[in-house]
Amino acid sequence: MTEILRIDSIFEQFLLRGKRKKMRGFTYLSKVLHSHSSYSKLLVLCSVSTGGLLVYAESNVESGKQVVEQNQPESKKKRVVVLGTGWGGTSFLKDVDISSYDVQVVSPRNYFAFTPLLPSVTCGTVEARSIVEPVRNIIKKSSGEIQFWGAECLKIDPENRTVSCRSGINDNLAGHNDFSLQYDYLVVAVGAQVNTFNTPGVMEHCHFLKEVEDAQRIRRTVIDCFEKSVIPGLSEEERRTNLHFVIVGGGPTGVEFAAELHDYVYEDLVKIYPSVKDFVKITVIQSGDHILNTFDERISSFAEQKFQRDGIEVSTGCRVTSVSDHFINMKVKSTGKHV
Ligand SMILES: Cc1cc2nc3c(=O)[nH]c(=O)nc-3n(C[C@H](O)[C@H](O)[C@H](O)COP(=O)(O)OP(=O)(O)OC[C@H]3O[C@@H](n4cnc5c(N)ncnc54)[C@H](O)[C@@H]3O)c2cc1C
Repeated sequence: MTEILRIDSIFEQFLLRGKRKKMRGFTYLSKVLHSHSSYSKLLVLCSVSTGGLLVYAESNVESGKQVVEQNQPESKKKRVVVLGTGWGGTSFLKDVDISSYDVQVVSPRNYFAFTPLLPSVTCGTVEARSIVEPVRNIIKKSSGEIQFWGAECLKIDPENRTVSCRSGINDNLAGHNDFSLQYDYLVVAVGAQVNTFNTPGVMEHCHFLKEVEDAQRIRRTVIDCFEKSVIPGLSEEERRTNLHFVIVGGGPTGVEFAAELHDYVYEDLVKIYPSVKDFVKITVIQSGDHILNTFDERISSFAEQKFQRDGIEVSTGCRVTSVSDHFINMKVKSTGKHV
């Protein structure tokens, strides 16, 4: 089991955020698995905060593409296959005793990303390259050999103790993409998927903030919104619409992003786009009665007061019911009205 200890420094962050140079207190206790093999054959790593999700598709990898049995070295050591290079997988790799096991890692992501700093990447406070570490560097530091394969696991066959994998790397490159690996122990640390709560329009019209690519996309989009809003001939209403940033979710990620965006806009962007500075609006929509409602009440009310002073609008008790290209529909919980 992975244990993640969130030393919740949100309160501290608000105090320290003066110059948008914050580092979040984050302690990750990496006692993932001690190398005793008496545990189960299939290990599912779960994280406390978002919950790990075991995802394996029943897609038919065999059809149409060659399946290659990976040549695995003749060894008396037990074979461990690790799926995922996030917090769970990487912590496991740091602790596993490779003198006792042959370890292979499979993940479509050849780097580890320090997620607590993702909101800072959206606004350029921190560069993406500063929060990632190549997996090959991480495994190089271990005292023996760990092999990494840049691929996604598509299927687990527990009976034959085999995983079927597919490399997502450019199809134009020579060679097959599919291969399978045998294991004695399988560590599944593939994380969770983003959840739209089945809200129509979210997939098409919203940005998520889970991966490094998401943060980079948000950064580009914020700039695009400003560029579009200064184009000649737009109505005031159009400029306002383009510069209304709505964050759905008043949990730590939403609140941190709102704070980062606010600082980015008012410390940097208004100097670059002074003509539209009065049209900017940031809104946080939260279905609960308070933002950061899973935290101590003092943190929650501190954040709400800070947002009020900063002019960040907080709509609590509102549930987003659908999203279109220009509108967000919400249900106000107290009145039951749709707005
Ligand atoms: C913006 C943000 C801020 C956060 N801040 C904090 C914080 O301050 N404190 C805290 O405790 N938690 C925080 N979290 C939550 C924390 O990041 C997650 O709990 C943690 O990442 C979960 O770890 P994991 O190893 O289960 O999954 P992940 O870290 O998501 O890793 C999953 C890995 O599996 C790989 N993978 C996916 N599918 C497959 C497949 N089919 N085959 C092989 N590999 C696959 C992925 O590429 C990835 O490498 C934050 C999350 C976000 C998004």
